[in-house]
Amino acid sequence: MIKKSKLNKQSQRELLMYALLGFSVGAFLFSCYHFVTISFFQRSNNAKINNKPSITPYYESSAFENKPTIMSATQSGGMDNPIKIPIIMYHYVEYVKDPGDTIRQKLNTTPLQFEKELISLKKNNYDTYFVKDIPDIINGTIDYSTRSVVLTFDDGYRDFYDNAFPLLQKYHMRGTVYIIQSNIGKPDFLSHQQIQDMIDSQLVEIGSHTLTHAYLKTMSDSAAWKQIIESKQKLEEEFNTKIETFAYPNGVYNPKTIDLVKEASYSAAVSVISGTIQSQNNLFYLSRIRPGILTGDAVRVIEGLNK
Ligand SMILES: [Zn+2]
Repeated sequence: MIKKSKLNKQSQRELLMYALLGFSVGAFLFSCYHFVTISFFQRSNNAKINNKPSITPYYESSAFENKPTIMSATQSGGMDNPIKIPIIMYHYVEYVKDPGDTIRQKLNTTPLQFEKELISLKKNNYDTYFVKDIPDIINGTIDYSTRSVVLTFDDGYRDFYDNAFPLLQKYHMRGTVYIIQSNIGKPDFLSHQQIQDMIDSQLVEIGSHTLTHAYLKTMSDSAAWKQIIESKQKLEEEFNTKIETFAYPNGVYNPKTIDLVKEASYSAAVSVISGTIQSQNNLFYLSRIRPGILTGDAVRVIEGLNK
């Protein structure tokens, strides 16, 4: 009995030890499991947060869907040789200093955002073209991929040279800048030398945006003609380069304005009509989209907002 009780006591102690050991191992394994699962979930949550785009990347937006771009005339509402090339319309590329300047704010893309857009286009193998390339693309005389994009910058603001041009050089991408001829060298606008540097880089096409940012629609034909032809001639003389494309100030024109632009020997003109389909039919009022496509207001026509 004594022996038995001793044994019992011993086995009770052993049992207790095993139970404690078992409990510790269990607790240890349980905390390991928790640590692993919690950190895994935290990581995947972080990944979700980090990867979740606050804005739709360019290439995922419908404007940039890589769809077949040659459509039949009936599919495209009777357009000849329609192709899908988004032409993006930038104005300011800067950090706007005056928060009260709402027009500037609305027309602005920050340099950081602009760089993000260039990286996004680059990563997704987009090629940048000039507006002057579009007639040749439509006619099939130059190569064209379904991932083509045209970057345009209206008004010739000085911040283009300071902020956008260095980024175009960095990523070796091209852009078309529409110059208001009489504003060259004025405060806030590009200087003669800056424009010359950009032409020499071959990354920038210079186009005309009239002499004085004229409201062509309501002008007399002769006054409109002067704005359209003289701006071209003066820019050509000043920079010894051919000025091939035109941008309507404020996006306004009438049928007569279009005729005058054709008569002045421009090969194409850009409008502020929202869209990405270009063709022989709209060569003199090519559609553009705002960079605000990233925030969903790309299709907002800005007539009346443009400076
Ligand atoms: Zn303008």
